[in-house]
Amino acid sequence: MADADRYLTSRLHGLGATIFAEMSALADRTASINLGQGFPDTDGPMEVAEAAIAAIRAGHNQYPPGLGIAELRRSIAEHQQRFYGLTYDPDTEILVTTGATEAIAASLLALCDDGDEVVTFEPYYDSYAACIAMAGAHRRVVTLRAPDYGFDPDALRAAITPKTRLVLLNSPHNPTGKVFDRAELELIAEICVEHDLLAITDEVYEHLVFDGEHIPLASLPGMRERTVTISSAGKTFSFTGWKIGWVCAAPGLVAAVRVVKQYLTYATGAPFQHAIAGALLLDDSYYSAFTDDLRLKRDLLCTGLADVGFEVFEPSGTYFVTVDIRPLGTADGTAFCLDLPERCGVVAIPNVVFYDDIDEGRPLVRFAFCKRMEVLAEAVTRMKALRT
Ligand code: PMP
Ligand code: GLN
Repeated sequence: MADADRYLTSRLHGLGATIFAEMSALADRTASINLGQGFPDTDGPMEVAEAAIAAIRAGHNQYPPGLGIAELRRSIAEHQQRFYGLTYDPDTEILVTTGATEAIAASLLALCDDGDEVVTFEPYYDSYAACIAMAGAHRRVVTLRAPDYGFDPDALRAAITPKTRLVLLNSPHNPTGKVFDRAELELIAEICVEHDLLAITDEVYEHLVFDGEHIPLASLPGMRERTVTISSAGKTFSFTGWKIGWVCAAPGLVAAVRVVKQYLTYATGAPFQHAIAGALLLDDSYYSAFTDDLRLKRDLLCTGLADVGFEVFEPSGTYFVTVDIRPLGTADGTAFCLDLPERCGVVAIPNVVFYDDIDEGRPLVRFAFCKRMEVLAEAVTRMKALRT
């Protein structure tokens, strides 16, 4: 992938391959248990898969409307109302995207100008840095620090400058598993209102909260009109390969994001939109069973990693857990993750790739627990070899 830099003339020069693809390739090459890239090893509900097949058979195979099919936009609006009491007009305030990835890219490209600054928290999801760069903007990061991944309010205030255009927030947060609480969100909202900033919120793990509750930033006073709320069906319904995401925002913001979306993908996978339109309407019992299942998996992996000897920062949400590897006598997470397949047949992600502050991220490693219980148990058994 380093070869790409010989030809790459874009603002992504020097960025290389995403860590998730690299580590999944390593898992395949070494036939390791892949606790790196976050994808479940069991698919979502069969009835939802059948709905996609039925949509193909019913002939939903040509370009759908650029905004997304009306049925899905209505389901997204219903979902926001049911879970958060937020009202969005399906015709003017919702846009279907090719995963949250496209929603993030299109939003940043639409809303940032050359030289604008975007304030976000580190560790940050990898596509944020790339998309901020593609938009010609600059990131200013506020560090979330273990063990609770809180942040210094003064650091957030200090990150705001006259060039700040928007705050980019991810809650529940990848890779830490932090769920921002009401007081933290109120502070972010207060700062956005005070400085007249926009907010982009990435809420793809909204239904994976084990402790506390997910509070959309848009539900706070003064935020509904200035927040672009992003989510995706990939995590919630365990169909990460379908790439159905969405944006909910005020009409002017959606119109701006849509302009960019038109030229990125124009429209998004028609049959999958039909299937997700139905999935979003599933009973509350689907959502709670999904969360309960992942909570058990979190507990199993966290206990196992602590047994291995890591310092474990128990996540309140998402399907990732971060550990500090230093109790095992090593401090370089990248070297550790590159050796782990050979030593134990397990793949994990070095969190340092999500940090500007390299020293902060160096000893931290992320494991995904969206895998079958027996797979997680086997990964732990294998890693117990690290203790000797
Ligand atoms: N944001 C975060 C925080 C993620 O972890 C991911 C990975 N799924 C995405 C966005 C991308 O979501 P999608 O697969 O829907 O593009
Ligand atoms: N969101 C997934 C993760 O954090 C990866 C998705 C991707 O590979 N882009 O592991």
